[in-house]
Amino acid sequence: KEDVPSDIEIAVAQTPKPVADIAREMGVQADEIESYGKYKAKLELSILQRLSSRKDGKYIVVAGITPTPLGEGKSTTTIGLAQALGAHLDKVAIACVRQPSQGPTFGVKGGAAGGGYSQVIPMTEFNLHLTGDIHAVTAANNLLAAAIDARMFHESTQSDKGLFNRLCPPKKGVRSFSKPMLIRLEKLGITKTNPADLTEEEAARFARLDIDPATITWNRVIDCNDRYLRKITVGQAPTEKGFSRETQFDIAVASEVMAVLALSKDLRDMRDRLGRMVVASSKNGDAITAEDIGCAGAMAVLMKDAIKPTIMQTLEGTPVLVHAGPFANIAHGNSSIIADRIALKLAGVEEGDDESRNGYVITEAGFGADIGMEKFCNIKTRVSGLTPNAVVLVATIRALKMHGGGPPVSPGKVLDAVYSSENLELLEKGCANLGKHIENAKKFGLKVVVAINGFTSDTPAEMELVQKYSLSVGADYAVPSNHWAKGGEGAVELAKAVIEACKDESEFKFLYDVNLPLEEKMNIIAKEMYGADGVELSPEAKEEVARYTRQGYSALPICMAKTALSLSDDPNRKGVPTGFTLPIRNVRLSAGASFVYPLVGDMSTMPGLTTRPGFYDIDLTEDGEIVGLF
Ligand code: ADP
Repeated sequence: KEDVPSDIEIAVAQTPKPVADIAREMGVQADEIESYGKYKAKLELSILQRLSSRKDGKYIVVAGITPTPLGEGKSTTTIGLAQALGAHLDKVAIACVRQPSQGPTFGVKGGAAGGGYSQVIPMTEFNLHLTGDIHAVTAANNLLAAAIDARMFHESTQSDKGLFNRLCPPKKGVRSFSKPMLIRLEKLGITKTNPADLTEEEAARFARLDIDPATITWNRVIDCNDRYLRKITVGQAPTEKGFSRETQFDIAVASEVMAVLALSKDLRDMRDRLGRMVVASSKNGDAITAEDIGCAGAMAVLMKDAIKPTIMQTLEGTPVLVHAGPFANIAHGNSSIIADRIALKLAGVEEGDDESRNGYVITEAGFGADIGMEKFCNIKTRVSGLTPNAVVLVATIRALKMHGGGPPVSPGKVLDAVYSSENLELLEKGCANLGKHIENAKKFGLKVVVAINGFTSDTPAEMELVQKYSLSVGADYAVPSNHWAKGGEGAVELAKAVIEACKDESEFKFLYDVNLPLEEKMNIIAKEMYGADGVELSPEAKEEVARYTRQGYSALPICMAKTALSLSDDPNRKGVPTGFTLPIRNVRLSAGASFVYPLVGDMSTMPGLTTRPGFYDIDLTEDGEIVGLF
């Protein structure tokens, strides 16, 4: 480790290629990019049409074993593998990664650009504003939040008729409906398009949403760890005439708008999903959507550039698409479908072309594989229709020793000596956790490549033990990899295994039929993925399931909001816990993103800052150079 400089030192020592060169090398035409400075560019979605006749390249998802709180190197492996394929094995390879939130950047130390000699560059831009997508998500989210409160305020002071007249006032003597209004009319089953033709009853039904303030689920967001915003009161000025209510801020990446961005297939789909987002119930119990508020079109406008993935590069000059970054607990924690779709076409070949030129798309799934890979398979690919070929399951000797009974590992604390010296006994005991994730991956019909992310203190005997174990419990390949210390060169063996794993036709399948009842789907995930005896819903959660079922949302997939630090609901239970029932406290709906998310225990959607946050290290030199960022 002493030989490897800090992440930022490595990152700034490398001069990136102009992004136009990266784009050209990956087969993007000059008019299909929009540069944001020298090293970043947005990619036009029209490229999907141009490449529509191509077959898709090979699709690989990187997931991990149950991690320590330090992270076991999924991002690092994603980048290292792309470097090995692209810069050392002469393959077309594109990494698709999430854009990190600024919360962790300034809070608990740890970037998301990878690490060591496997990183996305320029890493400072990657970890900060990038091309403004998170800001766009924030703007769209908060426009809707403001619109909800304003709507309730105005409805409270006006008659049905007054409300209708104000919603569509005559312009130059003519009254007409706006486009978002026509969508709401259609939803209400009113076919008239001239406001003058509506009956009084229709006008009232159209105009009055009658939002029940107690049911509002839409929060304001900001991209900063700010614990004092976890509970706030809005509307305290006298101008709001006593319409104050308690609400909260979430971190921006926890917004459903971010999940929508990640799960949209194209512009049209994003516009429709934004409209379908449920923000509250009416006093009659009907779901109120962003479309009903009349805000979805304007939100789509705010998101019109955010929907384009950003082209960046690895340290070794191979292409990376950065796009979206939804939370991994209350959302699905995967980068965008659009970026994956484009990358698969760029990596693919035309029918009849030389198959050996068929390339590889490496995309990452957050958290442990029980969550990230499960959601990748059951939520993301169900929406996208794309077929993954293989999973790269990242394991570390460190995390396996922890699962075998090693002392707790936490950020900021000195690691116990068992983690830096050979200990085959602990390691062997801990391998069961890896075994469970291998078994899980096989349930999706995926080829499994175990990547043992090598730390400088790992010994050859430890590596061999994990390799042998992995193969004995059904992994197709198990390879030690040194991409953190050596860059792509260190992951060449891993890349060769991935190439082999992708040779056969994919036998990918879903874990459950999406048409099953909500509770049954939760049971399947809990039993099959976590090894639980089943789920137990609180009375409140049961009511919520009944409500969503009544409102027509039962055929959505499940997005479990569970800790990543254990296969169970208790972060302290390591290895492969058994004999537990998964308690579901509440069940929430993301109708626009299109999943239902059960809350397994408390899930914070607004992190706080610690006594010693990352920002204490960060500064700017007189030359404008950033120091101390990781
Ligand atoms: P994940 O994506 O699984 O959360 P990351 O790839 O972000 O994990 O890695 C977490 C941290 O660990 C990063 O700071 C990274 O630089 C570091 N890291 C990853 N792999 C290694 C390794 N083999 N040796 C030393 N540090 C590593």
